[in-house]
Amino acid sequence: LGPTITVGEILVEIMATTIGAGFLEPQPLTGPYPSGAPAIFIDQVAQMGGSAGIIASVGNDDFGRLNIERLERDGADISAISIIADKPTGSAFVRYRPDGARDFVFNIAHSAAGDVRMTEAAHALVARAGHLHIMGSAFAIPGVADILENAIKTVKRRGGSVSFDPNIRKELVDAGRGRKLVDDILAVTDLLLPSGEELLIAADSADEATAVAKLLDGGVSEIVLKRGRDGSSFFGRDGARVDSPAFTVEEVDPTGAGDCFGATYLTCRRAGMEPERALLLANAAGARNVTRRGPMEGVSSLADLEAFIASSTTESI
Ligand code: ATP
Repeated sequence: LGPTITVGEILVEIMATTIGAGFLEPQPLTGPYPSGAPAIFIDQVAQMGGSAGIIASVGNDDFGRLNIERLERDGADISAISIIADKPTGSAFVRYRPDGARDFVFNIAHSAAGDVRMTEAAHALVARAGHLHIMGSAFAIPGVADILENAIKTVKRRGGSVSFDPNIRKELVDAGRGRKLVDDILAVTDLLLPSGEELLIAADSADEATAVAKLLDGGVSEIVLKRGRDGSSFFGRDGARVDSPAFTVEEVDPTGAGDCFGATYLTCRRAGMEPERALLLANAAGARNVTRRGPMEGVSSLADLEAFIASSTTESI
């Protein structure tokens, strides 16, 4: 029907190299790496051979060029990326805690990343899109909610579909405005891709089974729950369920796993694969991504994933 598109932040990521190190004193860092959840997502769709585009902005600088060159090389449509002359490309600094948690210092609001513009090329991309992927993180950017509202209408009018990776925190949703936003997006979502607690927050339910039932009753057609090292689960209409164990890998950098997972699942489903096969390939994409330093360094083609699956073992559920 048309490309998979998304809207949101393009960043470079610069990361600590030592677990436990803070940013309060000088230390060895590594980067810049191309990043931004929507950019990782669209790059992975393109790697899988899907047609993919992004509405976003970068500055007229090396960090912007790094991202554009990567996305273009990997086959993504870069026509709707604006180059903003007087703002730098957005950035994120990441450090890792000993328990596996991450802390980010983001520079989005005052950078090109926080200045997403609907250019003529962006309108043209939306007009030919067959699928819109919505990332919760993008709502922090002024104007993105309106861009998405219009894109949803256009894509749905053409018979296209919508996926939603909520990427939400409970405090933000409880603050009021967030709840309505999430409910409005859920009302048009075909595929929901929550991770962990996001499922319960999205459904405003206390347990997984109630949350799944409520969301499916509310009109979502499929839910794919990301469970990190515990793999993932698919929930569909009429009680359909598939659980898929994670692959056993050594995690080097967790950032981007969820985006590679979601992009792979979506692209496989859009290509007509059954949920079980799509889930297996998505688990492989998430696992493969965490073995590489840099959020977009571990993106995978279908051939990469098939080779990875053939040579790997999975955790039992
Ligand atoms: P992020 O926000 O870091 O991009 P997420 O929270 O959205 O990630 P996760 O559940 O962490 O999503 O990861 C997505 C999928 O990637 C998991 O369902 C799993 O299949 C795979 N995965 C992630 N981490 C690991 C790991 N350490 N080992 C094996 N597979 C993993």
